[in-house]
Amino acid sequence: MTAVEPVTADAGRDFIRDIVQADLESGRHKQVVTRFPPEPNGYLHIGHAKSICLNFGVAEEFGGRCHLRFDDTNPTKEEQEYIDAIEADVRWLGFDWGQHLYHASDYFERLFEWAEHLIRAGKAYVDDQSQDEMRASRGTLTEPGRNSPFRDRGVEENLDLFRRMRAGEFPNGARVLRAKIDMTSGNINLRDPVLYRILHATHPRTGTEWKIYPSYDYAHGQSDAIEGITHSICTLEFEDHRPLYDWFLDNLPVPSHPHQYEFARLNLTYTVLSKRVLNALVKGGHVSGWDDPRMPTLAGIRRRGVPPAALRDFVKRIGVAKANSLVDLGVLDFSIREVLNKSAQRRMAVLRPLKVVIENYPESQGEELEAVNHPDDPAAGTRRIRFGPEIFIEQDDFMENPPKKFFRLSPGAEVRLRYAYFITCREAVKDAAGNVVELRCTYDPATKGGNAPDGRKVKATIHWVSAKDSVPAEVRLYNPLFTKPEPDVSNFVNDLNPNSLEVLAEARVEPSLVQGNSPEPVQFERQGYFCLDPDSQPGRPIFNRTVGLRDTWAKIQGAG
Ligand code: ATP
Ligand code: MG
Repeated sequence: MTAVEPVTADAGRDFIRDIVQADLESGRHKQVVTRFPPEPNGYLHIGHAKSICLNFGVAEEFGGRCHLRFDDTNPTKEEQEYIDAIEADVRWLGFDWGQHLYHASDYFERLFEWAEHLIRAGKAYVDDQSQDEMRASRGTLTEPGRNSPFRDRGVEENLDLFRRMRAGEFPNGARVLRAKIDMTSGNINLRDPVLYRILHATHPRTGTEWKIYPSYDYAHGQSDAIEGITHSICTLEFEDHRPLYDWFLDNLPVPSHPHQYEFARLNLTYTVLSKRVLNALVKGGHVSGWDDPRMPTLAGIRRRGVPPAALRDFVKRIGVAKANSLVDLGVLDFSIREVLNKSAQRRMAVLRPLKVVIENYPESQGEELEAVNHPDDPAAGTRRIRFGPEIFIEQDDFMENPPKKFFRLSPGAEVRLRYAYFITCREAVKDAAGNVVELRCTYDPATKGGNAPDGRKVKATIHWVSAKDSVPAEVRLYNPLFTKPEPDVSNFVNDLNPNSLEVLAEARVEPSLVQGNSPEPVQFERQGYFCLDPDSQPGRPIFNRTVGLRDTWAKIQGAG
């Protein structure tokens, strides 16, 4: 899986949508009903965003509806915190389930009755084997399994044991309920799969009412059938489960018979999309939490400043296919830039300041200049920015001994200060160690606004902030969390990027950036897109870099 997927040309059309359209045209269904079925055992990640956009998107486009259904069948791993976060994340992405919020646990009683139905029909039995014994008799891909010694128990004994399992008479793991299908099936999922296991645990919704919990396979299709789902869309790992999905529906008195369709899950370079690993990153303290801006969770992506429209654009761009592939992280950055370039207002901020003293500037109090908020959108208006005799520029906009193609500041060179004047560097002041700590420059008063009346040109325009008026800020730059395009999920700690977070503690920003505490991302001119982080304190703003203006990371990686 090393091929990086190109962006699909035919975004917006895919085999799932073709199937749905055909089913509506043929009259097989009057209305499409889909569902997004998260297990509340972690926060949603960008892979889930693909599934959400597909399920809710298809419903929206074809005039149907999409349910949000919590697949809450494993109380040992599920928490209310995750339930709340999932709802918030789906809404943030821009989707709404209306009244159609469901839980697999809503159906526990019905699922139990249907299990008894299977027992009465001789199609399910209570197995007393241990987990190890069951594993040993399951067989392999090349060898058939062996029947359990408990497989031929009578109906009455099975019913009695199953009810006593429910009543909590047995400890965890003592018994399970299995479907009686075929231990020699070529499809291992059909070798008498487990329907119920004993679990003495507190469930976020049903509390301690239940001592047995249904398996994913047993709960999922029946929940779909109860809700009248027409197209049950899931990822490719479940392709081999489809015969089992159908077996349950064929053998139970269900009110409808949904169909399962599988699509390829999202895999992203330099990223791990597995709740197990994301949970371990949080628990292991490798990140600050589920919403750490380096996390591929929707909460992390949101905190980094990514607008939901960028995620929807990304999902559309990568399309929906039947074969697994790997998507370049750069595609996501591209979508983020596409959206933010249009929506984000421009501001000036200096990330690594170098002081510039303008020796011939006469007004110690400085002056106000006009700056545009968006170059392509006059309606975004303008703002006033303060200029003065001392300003900060970026350290890397100056070179003492510049190579040929370096057009920014160097001794004797003239550049344009954005929205202000032309300045010429006269001298670089150094500290005892020989580091440049200040520049001495002169400005040309005739160039106010950035143009010389004599028509002379400069090759570079640089950004700046007034030393006196700018606000000190912390800026957090984020790089991919992993150093490898395909991190080793079983040993992910080895592949963690030690430079995924870079803190710039001495940045200086325009005062307008901290007025109003707007969470909207802005463009720091020539740097990228940034947004205020919720860790900000009064007088100590913190900005997250949402994405740079160009894909510098790929270049660094390529060179290394
Ligand atoms: P994880 O592997 O991260 O634990 P999961 O599949 O166990 O994910 P669920 O909560 O069961 O997580 O997933 C809810 C829905 O999201 C499922 O339909 C699942 O197929 C889909 N989904 C999960 N991961 C991806 C992904 N990477 N790409 C597309 N869809 C995904
Ligand atoms: Mg799952």
